[in-house]
Amino acid sequence: MIDNATLKMQFLFSLRKAGVLDKQVLDAMEKVDRKNFVNGVFSEKAYDDTPLPIACGQTISQPTVVGLMTQALQVTARDKVLEVGTGSGYQATILSLLARRVYTVERHSLLVNNANKVFQKLNISNVTTILSDGGFGLEQQAPFDRIIVTAASDDPPASLLSQLKIGGIMVIPVGQSDNMQKLIKITKTDGGYEYQDLHAVRFVPLVAGTEKEQ
Ligand code: SAH
Repeated sequence: MIDNATLKMQFLFSLRKAGVLDKQVLDAMEKVDRKNFVNGVFSEKAYDDTPLPIACGQTISQPTVVGLMTQALQVTARDKVLEVGTGSGYQATILSLLARRVYTVERHSLLVNNANKVFQKLNISNVTTILSDGGFGLEQQAPFDRIIVTAASDDPPASLLSQLKIGGIMVIPVGQSDNMQKLIKITKTDGGYEYQDLHAVRFVPLVAGTEKEQ
């Protein structure tokens, strides 16, 4: 059997190989043990570079995708970050090590509760989890320096664009079909928005409303 240290080394190697080279992102991902965010039955696979099922039919993203998105977001220690799609809380935890404050919005109350338990266990105090439809952003805390969306939509939601500061960055998967999603990076400027295509990706869809409303 392969020991934990070797698994972790392979985990970091796969991140570098995929193009995650930012030292701060790599350090944060080394510190955050993905085992805390996956179901017991999948814990053996926690360091594999693969998405894994979590509650409510959702998934914890593939580590290399988390790494590439976090790197593209260029988070600084002064930043207030909004994440749409808390899921397991893994991405939010990595962001919590890089940013000043993280607000993470999720539409399933069970996932909100589970994530809050992990944040408590890990003593993370700069993440706030909110049960709501993240397609509308989080008006009461806007504007944000950075916005990361971890569920796919056809186009970047207008509310999210408007809640980004000038100079702010948003990373979001867009596209309809499973095979045709791409990750894009949007920078808000004085004059409008700059768009940059990053990678092909595959995310669960951004769904309107919270689960109770359906
Ligand atoms: N970032 C997560 C993975 C997210 S999976 C992690 O690190 O584990 C995508 C998540 O987005 C799912 O949990 C899904 O329920 C949530 N989601 C989808 N549509 C949403 C919406 N409109 N508002 C908030 N969350 C949404």
